[in-house]
Parts: sequence; C-alpha cells; structure tokens
Amino acid sequence: MSISVYIHIPFCTRRCSYCDFNTYAGLEHLISPYIGALCKEIEVLGKNLPDSYRNQVHTVYFGGGTPSLLNPMDIKAILVSLERNFGFEASLEVSLEANPGTLTLEKVQAYAQLGVNRLSLGFQSANESELQLLGRTHTLEDVVEAVKAAQSAGIRNLNLDLIYGLPKQTLADWKHSLNAALSLDVEHLSLYSLTIEEGTLLEEWIKQGFLPYPDADFAADCYELAREMLTAAGYVHYEISNWAKPKQDSPNFCRHNLQYWKNQEYFGLGAGAHGYLAGFRLVNVLHPFQYVQKVNAFSTSLFPFSPATEHAYPVDREEEMKDTLLLGLRLVREGVVEEEFYRRFGKRMEQVFAKEIDRLLRKGLVEWVETDPRRLRLTRFGQLLGNQAFLEFV
Ligand code: SF4
Repeated sequence: MSISVYIHIPFCTRRCSYCDFNTYAGLEHLISPYIGALCKEIEVLGKNLPDSYRNQVHTVYFGGGTPSLLNPMDIKAILVSLERNFGFEASLEVSLEANPGTLTLEKVQAYAQLGVNRLSLGFQSANESELQLLGRTHTLEDVVEAVKAAQSAGIRNLNLDLIYGLPKQTLADWKHSLNAALSLDVEHLSLYSLTIEEGTLLEEWIKQGFLPYPDADFAADCYELAREMLTAAGYVHYEISNWAKPKQDSPNFCRHNLQYWKNQEYFGLGAGAHGYLAGFRLVNVLHPFQYVQKVNAFSTSLFPFSPATEHAYPVDREEEMKDTLLLGLRLVREGVVEEEFYRRFGKRMEQVFAKEIDRLLRKGLVEWVETDPRRLRLTRFGQLLGNQAFLEFV
C-alpha cells in the first residue's frame, strides 16, 4: 500500500487576480512558526501511525500558495521529519510548486540536493498582457531562466502550468503560449481552463463590466488546439488536463496526482489541506495562524486525525466506489479498468452503476474499450464535457 503526502504552503508574495486558493500575501512572518507546526503535525501523526502505513510514502507534494518562497532549510526540516516519522519507499517522487520569479539557480540546486525531483512551474501564459491581467509577478523570461536552472540542477521532471480561455484571449494568443511552452521541451504540461471564482479580483472586474465573462466555446476550441499540438509534439494525454512526454525510460506522469485519480490514500498536512485516510476525508483548519495555534496546543491525536483536523467525513463503500469511478474517468487513456474495480470492491461497475453508465454511453460521453482487461473511459467528446459526465453520479 503506497501512501502520498500533500503539504500545503499557504504563502504568496501577492494575490493573483483569479486565485481563490487558501493562500495569503503579507503573512511571511508566519513562515517560521508554520514550518515548526508542520513538523509537529507530522510528529504527532507519526506517534500513532499503524504499522501498515510505515515506510510506505512514495510521493511528497509541496503545493500552495508558493512553496518556492521557502528556503531550502525549511524543505529539509519537513522532509527529515517525514522520513523519521512516516518513512519513505525506496523510489520517492518529491514535487514542489514554484513561482518562476522566486527561483534562483542556487535555490533550485539546494532543493534538488534535498531530493526534490519534480518541479511544477507557474508558466500560465507567454503573453505579457495576459500575465498582467492574471496578476502574475513573473515574466516569460523568468520562466525560461527557471527551466534552465532546474535542468542544470539535474531535475529531470519539470511541469509547466498554463491557463486558457481568458477574457479577450484569441486562439492565436493561446497558440503562442503553447508554442513557447513546447519550445522549452519539458516533461509535463498541465493546462487549465480559467474559472471565475467568487471573491476574486477577476470576478469583480467582470461584474463591473471591465471584462467579458470567459466564453466556454472558446475554451473548448483552446482545448482542441492543445490536444492537437501537444500530441504532435510527442506528449501523451493521460488525464483530462495533463500531458506527459516519455523520456529517460519514464512516462513522466505525475505519480502524486495519480494517487488522487486512483482514489488511493494520502495525508494532507498544513493549513486547509485535505487528506484521505482510513475511510475518512479529512480537512485541516483553514487559516495558517489557527493552524499553528491548534497544532501547538496538542501533542497527541488518534490516527487518522491530527491536531489540525477540523472536519472528518466518513466515506462508505458506495461513495468509495463512486469516487473511484469518477476520479478514474479523469484518466483519459487508462480509464477505469474493470478488473481493478472488481478486485477492489468485489462488484462489477456495470452492476453498481448500470443506469448512470448506460446514460453516459447513450450520450456518447464514455466508451468501453475492449482491451484485455476491459476499461471504461471518456470519449474525445466526453473529455470536452468531463463535468457533465461527472454530474451523472452526483
Ligand atoms: S501564485 Fe498561485 S497560489 Fe499564489 S496567488 Fe497566484 S495563483 Fe494563487
């Protein structure tokens, strides 16, 4: 049983205009106590960790926020604490999200020496006006420099995040961003359609009429274009929003995110982090200040809860089956393998979700692929309308 660990770093130098993540600008003074609390959360969880969870961690993901704001000693403290209290598998993927403007060659080299072997960079766009609209603090040159630095530091799995479907964006603008990203020849690309979140600056500008609401048809055209260009460039489309280029004998899929898509267990550590352990979906207290206070107030907890747990939702068998199917359908190549589902639940998915699957088949959103073993997956059309397919199960 391999386990993953997500670590949330809720600090940014500035808030981007579209972002509603649990992250804060101007709280840098909390970084040091926050790192101390993270190590304590790991230690407390480690005390009552069942044996079946020991030495099973195969992926660690530093997400945020902007984890690259942390100095390497902070990353080291967390990794050392994880190794000591949870234990690692021999082959460990350590990913770190980075804002290109916050990276230097020395910093990336230090991260790499600590074992960070996958870096995810916020590229977003190659167009200056779009970067400004999004409130990004970096330029295209910063990304190019960061990619070079990571490559020269020996990091062999690099991801770029890109956003499409922006107000006023044209297909030519999007093509320019895709070409700029492709020219960097990284191993992985994550492409996200812009969503307008409540309480963001972007939502405010749209409400006030300064910007049009993003057009869903245009976003679908961007997605189509990306599918064509990335496939032609040798990338494998393996998840609705993710593409990887096989290199150095590795498919370069994100092993950490595969853990989520396969509906397997993971720890969620830090403020507002979500975990899935021992039949519970767990949510930590949201604000970093309260997180530090809560963690420091307790020195013990009953597994799978930590001192920072705010909510715990039990997941019954039916929900687990539904989640396994929904998350698995995101894997556009592999889909949900019938045999694996049967091995896990002792039931055929066609039996459990007969009506839902039938409706999706009739709408042309999913298909059975008659390979050995047989699998259910989204059609190309279904990939465009992924959310509609998922709604069948809600
Ligand atoms: S850098 Fe990322 S997490 Fe921070 S505000 Fe921007 S989008 Fe949000």
